[in-house]
Amino acid sequence: MSRIAYVNGQYVRHADAAVHVEDRGYQFADGVYEVCEVWRGKLVDVPRHLDRLDRSLSELRIGWPMARAAVEFVLRQVVRRNKVVNGLVYIQVTRGVSRRDHFFPPENVAPSIVVTARSASPAAAKAQAEKGIAVVSYPENRWPRVDIKTVALLPNVLAKQNAKENGGKEAWYVDGDGNVTEGGSTNAWIVTKEGVLVTRPAEGGILRGITREAVLELVQKEGLAFEERPFTLTEAYDAKEAFVTAATTLVMPVTKIDDRIIGNGHPGTVATRLRDLFHTATDLKAV
Ligand code: PLP
Repeated sequence: MSRIAYVNGQYVRHADAAVHVEDRGYQFADGVYEVCEVWRGKLVDVPRHLDRLDRSLSELRIGWPMARAAVEFVLRQVVRRNKVVNGLVYIQVTRGVSRRDHFFPPENVAPSIVVTARSASPAAAKAQAEKGIAVVSYPENRWPRVDIKTVALLPNVLAKQNAKENGGKEAWYVDGDGNVTEGGSTNAWIVTKEGVLVTRPAEGGILRGITREAVLELVQKEGLAFEERPFTLTEAYDAKEAFVTAATTLVMPVTKIDDRIIGNGHPGTVATRLRDLFHTATDLKAV
């Protein structure tokens, strides 16, 4: 079966899917994106992802490429046409195609939209979660507007590649005050020795992750002790547990940060429980 992508109004073979060389996403990283989990053929938290897309677009003064309901329809179509049962659907919207010039293009230039979907193996993710991942710290070097989900991900690419070359699966950014901000493509969490969950507030320095929000709701529902506050890398080294959250990884335990083993070196009970609860909650809310 050949993969299908949606590009500016048409469903095309993935192998043939292309945008113009003067698309502003290609030339200026002038665009935004969302990644939504597909779980048992359904989309997880799609209203929240579209709300965040709306916010990202309006922060950059890019219009919706078409009505929000039509975008949601296309997301479902691309999932269905690619027969994705478990995996991800990706949407990217850029400021459109125009002669290369830093200034915004004329008003009549329409935003570009691309949607792709791909399968992922729940068994592989489960095996990874049972083992945990290693993360490698990296100096925060991104622009201050990381709250906008832009396609300008070069710092994230370099941080994650550095992690990979040092035996890790994720990078943890550390700011000038020694605080962990977030991962290269995930939000960062720890559980202190006292059993308190800690994650950085979304008011600055991080992307407000949809998975982070969903997990915070679970944490409150379960009555677990938690604090939304910055935490340092040193505090993370000494934590009982650590984990990351994202639509791509869900709740993924961290068992090593740099050369420090976290807790007993195995996925922690809190992270493991939250991962299980997340799936149960997902069954209820995916549509
Ligand atoms: N932080 C960054 C930098 C990300 O790129 C992502 C996801 O791509 C996240 C956090 C997690 O966000 P979400 O839970 O919405 O996937």
